[in-house]
Amino acid sequence: MSFLPMIPELVRQLFKKPATNQFPAKYLPPSVTEFLAKVGAGTATLTPPVATPPKFRGKIAYQRDGCIGCGLCVKVCPSHAIELLPETKRIRVWVDQCIFCSQCTDICPKGSLHMTDGFMLADEDRYSENLIVE
Ligand code: SF4
Ligand code: SF4
Repeated sequence: MSFLPMIPELVRQLFKKPATNQFPAKYLPPSVTEFLAKVGAGTATLTPPVATPPKFRGKIAYQRDGCIGCGLCVKVCPSHAIELLPETKRIRVWVDQCIFCSQCTDICPKGSLHMTDGFMLADEDRYSENLIVE
């Protein structure tokens, strides 16, 4: 198979501006933070992120005040991402294990769990605060 037909497209892409922003935001190198400073000063513009569609299943949110510690969410979670904490009768969600199926939100009798549109979950540390919901 010849790659020659791809060459015009490859050359075109070399001169195109990126369509996305660098990610994740908290690990941005100085070159980008300087760029963000320019955005703040109004001398540069950001490519806006793509809006999430309705019913998007992103990072889980937990309202611990309403939780009764019944453990149903723990039982239905197919990826064992939820842990019941016996001492407090509350739960902890390990977001790095979550597959965003939403079964826990469906079964919770108190409506204490719901999916948000948060999707910026890339992290080098699976135990970072960003990836633990409790
Ligand atoms: S959304 Fe699915 S995988 Fe994620 S915590 Fe709930 S049940 Fe587990
Ligand atoms: S199903 Fe709802 S009430 Fe029960 S432990 Fe999970 S979050 Fe709490």
